[in-house]
Amino acid sequence: MSRRTARRTAGPRPRPRPAPALQADSPCPCGLDARYAACCGRFHSGQAAAPTAELLMRSRYSAFVVRDAPYLLRTWAPATRPRSVDFDPDMRWTGLEILGTSDGTLFHTTGTVTFVARYTHRGDPGELREHSRFERSGGAWVYVAGTFTDG
Ligand SMILES: [Zn+2]
Repeated sequence: MSRRTARRTAGPRPRPRPAPALQADSPCPCGLDARYAACCGRFHSGQAAAPTAELLMRSRYSAFVVRDAPYLLRTWAPATRPRSVDFDPDMRWTGLEILGTSDGTLFHTTGTVTFVARYTHRGDPGELREHSRFERSGGAWVYVAGTFTDG
């Protein structure tokens, strides 16, 4: 056994792996049938702004996948925006399902999205169900707050 291996097994747990890298032509993690660059990637890069609350929600989920903290912060309503976003390095987001939406289109100033986001945490599967509220701020959709829901 090499010294390196011995030291690693002596530690409390393995080093967390970095966020999965997404290529421009990777399937978008948000669940839509599109390439990352043509879907959430164009919102993350600032090329475009999400036109609906649902697309903003999807792009924020994808931002958690790629750990894009600046995007999460700039799409957070100023009144509820945290100082920073911390990512749990042991968390792997595995899928997003939109369960329902209300308003949140080009014709509205507020909207809601209910979704389930699935993940594994150190290999254990779990899911997060949330009812999120969005509003339009300066023409762009931002996340206001969410409440966890059961079932
Ligand atoms: Zn997407």
